Amino acid sequence: MKTSSRTAIIAGNWKMNYGPKEAASFAQEIVPELGKVVHHAHHVLCILCPPAISLAAVRDVLAAAAHPHIELGAQNMYFEEKGAFTGEISPGMVRELCNSVILGHSERRTYFGENDAMVNKKAHAALRHGLRPIVCIGENEHEHEAGQTKQIIHSQVRHSLANFTADQVNKVVIAYEPIWAIGTGNAATAEGAGKVIALIRQSYGEMYGPEAAQTLRILYGGSVTSSNIGEFLVHPDIDGALVGGASIKPDFVEIVRKTLATIGQ
Ligand code: PEP
Repeated sequence: MKTSSRTAIIAGNWKMNYGPKEAASFAQEIVPELGKVVHHAHHVLCILCPPAISLAAVRDVLAAAAHPHIELGAQNMYFEEKGAFTGEISPGMVRELCNSVILGHSERRTYFGENDAMVNKKAHAALRHGLRPIVCIGENEHEHEAGQTKQIIHSQVRHSLANFTADQVNKVVIAYEPIWAIGTGNAATAEGAGKVIALIRQSYGEMYGPEAAQTLRILYGGSVTSSNIGEFLVHPDIDGALVGGASIKPDFVEIVRKTLATIGQ
């Protein structure tokens, strides 16, 4: 069991799975179960992140359940307020339905050309609109094997998370997702992830001071399941998980149950 003043976050990134009908029916399946698990828990927050087109459908299920510890998040958004940006959704639109938004996921960076400067603009836009940005960073396999993780991570923190005001620094969540661990079944070890996460905390502290570093929530992501979540959460620097594949299965409820068992709720 671990004790931490930082509320744990378990976020589910559904990726491009479940259109409105399927999303509503999956949400109807898991939300009541999640509700039972987190009912008396004050130190955990679950965030469901369906595709943009399914946000409203899942919002309806969550509104009916009205559970304060289960929220809705988007998987991406653009940083501009409105206008001729075909196919994009704005921070204001996301804020109508969501409390959080995942930004800079490695799939966005790899397939859609997002870089740290864009992610930083998006994080600022999210904060301006009262959204909680969950900013993803992580090294790829080549960088990992070449021993470059430390430099890559340091640079991503410096650039993706630049120029926040004192008011904003505590509202940001980081997800450390080593790219080689995403969707591979080959999760990082808790010790390995914990070491990188401690470095992230240190870099954030160099930018914004020790108190901001202490308050910052940092999640691990990469092949998390109910079988390994406990190992990650016992690490003092790991504050939760960003879950991909397992978040579109009933195992997500089990992950949250194990989280509570690990943090002692
Ligand atoms: C993710 O996409 O953020 C992720 C961590 O995926 P998975 O859990 O499937 O590795």
